[in-house]
Amino acid sequence: MTTPASSFESTTAGQKEELWGSYFLYRLSGGSAALFDPVSLESVYLDPSEVRRLHADDNSLAADLRTYGFHRTVQAPNRREAVVNRAGTELAGSPTHMSGYRIVVTDKCNMKCSYCFVDTNTSNPDMSQKDLHEGLDLLLTTNKNRKRISIQWFGGEPTIRFDLMKWGDTYARRLAQDYGIEKVTPVVVTNGVLLTDEMLDHYKEFGYGVGVSIDGPASAERTLLSGKPADPRIHRNITRMIEAGVDVGANLTPTPHNVGQMVKVIGYLMDLGLRFIYVNTPIPISGKWHVPGSTLAKALFEARLYAVGRGGMVFSRLDRIYQGIDTREPRIYEHMQRDGGVRVALLPGRRISVLDLNWRDQEFIYAIDDIRSDPGLLNQACKPLFPSPQCETCPALAVCGGPSQNDRALRRTGQPDPEFCAFHEQALALALSDNTGLQ
Ligand code: SF4
Repeated sequence: MTTPASSFESTTAGQKEELWGSYFLYRLSGGSAALFDPVSLESVYLDPSEVRRLHADDNSLAADLRTYGFHRTVQAPNRREAVVNRAGTELAGSPTHMSGYRIVVTDKCNMKCSYCFVDTNTSNPDMSQKDLHEGLDLLLTTNKNRKRISIQWFGGEPTIRFDLMKWGDTYARRLAQDYGIEKVTPVVVTNGVLLTDEMLDHYKEFGYGVGVSIDGPASAERTLLSGKPADPRIHRNITRMIEAGVDVGANLTPTPHNVGQMVKVIGYLMDLGLRFIYVNTPIPISGKWHVPGSTLAKALFEARLYAVGRGGMVFSRLDRIYQGIDTREPRIYEHMQRDGGVRVALLPGRRISVLDLNWRDQEFIYAIDDIRSDPGLLNQACKPLFPSPQCETCPALAVCGGPSQNDRALRRTGQPDPEFCAFHEQALALALSDNTGLQ
């Protein structure tokens, strides 16, 4: 009863039925099934004869299932309450502190990408050294004596202000020594167009993680401001960084153009020498997801398997679902870091957005001094849970919890995008039927 004996290929979100008002039974290939508890995140695999006995109301099978924690009850549980109670014992939704920054040094960018969610080249002033000084002071004092913190350089294109990155890394390193912080890990999210020898040396010296935004071999959606393709230059720079020993990975944005060719795209990136590929969760720019959720889940599942087979790793929101099922702990607060803190965005003008990917909506933005004097403001990052009546009957509720605050702001509604829900349902079905040991 415990061994998954399935093939993911035939598992779709539609091939499930509700059992005893509490559980979901996912049909797998060959007549077997996975029985899943959406609150405890426990699952048990049934062979074809057990599935037949289950449907025949076999009491001895029901007794066996009780030993695995699956009970036939008179009253179905309130799943939303049960999940929130479970999550609360491990990790509440309220952040205890700021655990890291996304530092938005400039909104200037040397590219224009059709799916960019940032307002670029607006003529708004860049971050000043004074802003950065004050922001880093607050972050490092807040994290005094913690083992490590991370700072991520972001824009626009952050390397346009490499001077600020250099200054900030050096200053953060000095502060870390003063405050007993073992390590400050810098990361940069870059389009890869700009790379100088000085940058290479700096990336190596500070142990950078460089994430290059790239979505395929030749992207019509990512061009230089002139409209010309930037791909050859970016690919050359990736090779240079890899050859120099810099830790470089890819940030891949799923688009309507590449979602159907995800394995091919990952193959191309791996041919460039990239081994760590992070696939961004779609952001509802213009209020909706632009890729079909179910297709994306299947594409990520296949891409993940493919990358592992070639010695690489594909990370995505699918991993949250695997982690939830694997640890049996709800994953409903995506803004929370492992240490109970939240990553926020440090913005020009001595401001902080408590949502690290939203610096447009003023209700999330505060002066540094306000955050310093009232850390409770960080609670704004915590989303209202399970906003839709359909969340109660959703098998994915304990690995989703509903759209993030940023998604809600971009959609101008608390209701989830149907493609967002389709993604979670399909991804859960695939994770439950995965017998590859990749969890
Ligand atoms: S996937 Fe949709 S229905 Fe399910 S919990 Fe999330 S928001 Fe609610």
